[in-house]
Amino acid sequence: MPLHDTEFTTNQMSRWLREEDPDRLDQLWARADEERRRVVGDGVHLRGLIEISNHCRRHCLYCGLRGPNDRVTRYRMTTEEILECARRAAELGFGTVVLQSGEDPGLDPVETAELIHTIKAETGLAVTLSLGERPTDHLARWREAGANRYLIRFETSDVGLFADLHPDAPRGSVLRVQQLRTMRDLGYEIGTGVMVGIPGQSYESLTYDIDLFRKMDIDMVGLGPYIANEQTPLRGDLNSLPEREQVPATEQMASKALALTRIVCPEANIPATTALATIDGRSGRRNALRRGANVIMPNLTPEQYARHYRIYPKKSEAKKTARTEPGWMEERLRTIGRYVADGPGNRVNRPDVSRSGGPTISSGKPET
Ligand code: SAH
Repeated sequence: MPLHDTEFTTNQMSRWLREEDPDRLDQLWARADEERRRVVGDGVHLRGLIEISNHCRRHCLYCGLRGPNDRVTRYRMTTEEILECARRAAELGFGTVVLQSGEDPGLDPVETAELIHTIKAETGLAVTLSLGERPTDHLARWREAGANRYLIRFETSDVGLFADLHPDAPRGSVLRVQQLRTMRDLGYEIGTGVMVGIPGQSYESLTYDIDLFRKMDIDMVGLGPYIANEQTPLRGDLNSLPEREQVPATEQMASKALALTRIVCPEANIPATTALATIDGRSGRRNALRRGANVIMPNLTPEQYARHYRIYPKKSEAKKTARTEPGWMEERLRTIGRYVADGPGNRVNRPDVSRSGGPTISSGKPET
């Protein structure tokens, strides 16, 4: 099974996802690392994450912020508080701030546009949004206000599984792919991703997820293991697949998906996600950086809010790895031969954004 580059077939990908031989896997990690170094280099981009609101109108079965979870203390940061965090990101030398929230109808589109405008004017940082599914007029307004990128994971390319996981939005996976296309046409860099090992995810379906990143030529891909949250209906036990079909939610499996993504989307910006660091402490993030990742998103949310942004249970270790003291990250990166990259960290060799069309969510996939 040779390691072809972007020509990798879905068959080869799915065999790699099932590979367990440590020597063979070392070849996969090495190939992903080589591709990362060749195409995006040794610089690691730091993006400061600000969790601006944990209000959410959605019912996603796996997520602790889901609207019906009444054990969450809800908050919405003020403009001044958010600006304070953005200034801190600039002081720390980060190139980007990421504004993330639940799908909060209380985030006013006009006020959010003003906030984006002010952050750009004051700090000059690149602004990434991760605010859920939004109407095109909001997306257009925020783009005009200066937002550069937008993250929305399609969570799974399997339309049936998406419907099972999102009872309030059964067509959501198609809509999310449409929103990604709309955003690309608006001039955003687009980011998506999936949870690895969510109950009901087969090897075949994870393979199609990675193939869809490639077909859509995604600019940023976020991948992390699914982490069961006891405050959600899904927890860990709603598993309908036979054991040999179900993708396990392990660090190793998330690493395989990440490495394959780097190989088939060599130009993408790929973070070492917090979920990885959560299940495997510091080595989760370090391994990800050596298996294809080139971005870290330190959390800048003030502690009094961050503790209420519990998508999944967080271990204290993850907090440590996301420390934001000046110099701390540089030091840790140096130990693995990497450094903090300058500048906003845009996608390399960005394609012409004016094209549209392209594959649909069901392409290459048998309809079930
Ligand atoms: N409301 C925004 C931001 C969501 S939080 C949006 O919908 O885009 C970012 C990501 O966290 C989600 O897209 C999902 O993939 C991930 N996530 C949610 N619950 C999780 C869990 N229990 N384990 C691991 N990742 C989870």
